[in-house]
Amino acid sequence: MTAAPTAPGTTAPSALAERPADVVRRVPLPLAARRLTVQRVEELSPTMRRVALGGPDLDGFEAHGPADHVKVFFPEEPGSELTMPVLTEGRWVNRDDATLVYRDYTVRTVAAGSDELLIDMVVHEHGPAGRWAAQAEPGQVLGTLGPRGSAIMPLDRDTYLLAADETGVPALLNWFDRLPEEAYVRAFVEVGEPGHEVDLPGGVRAEVTWLYRNGTPAGGTTLLQDAVGAALVQPPTGSLWAWAAGEASAVRAIRAHLAAAGMGRDSYAMTGYWRRGVANFDHHSPDA
Ligand SMILES: Cc1cc2nc3c(=O)[nH]c(=O)nc-3n(C[C@H](O)[C@H](O)[C@H](O)COP(=O)(O)OP(=O)(O)OC[C@H]3O[C@@H](n4cnc5c(N)ncnc54)[C@H](O)[C@@H]3O)c2cc1C
Repeated sequence: MTAAPTAPGTTAPSALAERPADVVRRVPLPLAARRLTVQRVEELSPTMRRVALGGPDLDGFEAHGPADHVKVFFPEEPGSELTMPVLTEGRWVNRDDATLVYRDYTVRTVAAGSDELLIDMVVHEHGPAGRWAAQAEPGQVLGTLGPRGSAIMPLDRDTYLLAADETGVPALLNWFDRLPEEAYVRAFVEVGEPGHEVDLPGGVRAEVTWLYRNGTPAGGTTLLQDAVGAALVQPPTGSLWAWAAGEASAVRAIRAHLAAAGMGRDSYAMTGYWRRGVANFDHHSPDA
């Protein structure tokens, strides 16, 4: 498995298309389907579990950016038969198979030479992936497809404004892993309640504000967008890169704050990772 803890970053392809090549560079990767076995499961917080996947299919896996993602394929119900993606000449040909259950998940940074693919999953009751995460245990089998490519984002800015709900936390952790010591991070992270925070890697100068929904359902607050909007009233001096991921309407509002603050498309990348009330939200859709 090829991994690059110090490699430059990545974002979702949808965020790349309109961006100048010298700001975010896309590196295509050969598309591969993999059947992988859960090696271990780790509790990162009361609502987030790390699933380490392994097996011979992991050979040749590559991911280089903080927001590189794979499609993860789940059994329709835990314990039922897994339908895998089928590739013909590098093309995914059974996309319309009604028994396929798949969702997008971020590839966590792994040590070079690691034989594990780490996926950090939010546990919730509203969809098959969230429910699968709740019961995950070693020996279970999942499929993956991708990544289709890496998106290399800048690591040379003075300040990084990062905002995420729980679904964006894995990519946020990847950002912390990659940024150089001299970078300054201002991060806003939304979780359910105190005690649901995730340990963040050290080694980066960071001011992190945890925002708590305190009983309001995920996707039901304006905490993240309000925090970013307030931070932009007096934008940091020097060069700035902004990145955000989370519920799509919050991400849209954050994008609007950045535009209102005069930040150009060469200074941010952000993607709606899910939309409240929508199953298998397509992050390539215009409202992501
Ligand atoms: C590029 C990308 C990277 C992602 N990386 C990660 C990751 O690393 N870890 C991770 O946990 N998620 C990640 N996500 C988000 C994840 O794909 C979605 O949350 C997905 O909808 C979960 O599938 P599901 O089967 O649980 O719910 P779905 O069947 O898709 O949705 C069913 C219902 O659940 C709601 N819902 C979906 N997600 C949540 C949530 N987190 N909390 C509360 N309600 C929810 C939906 O609005 C819908 O009403 C990523 C998404 C994208 C696009």
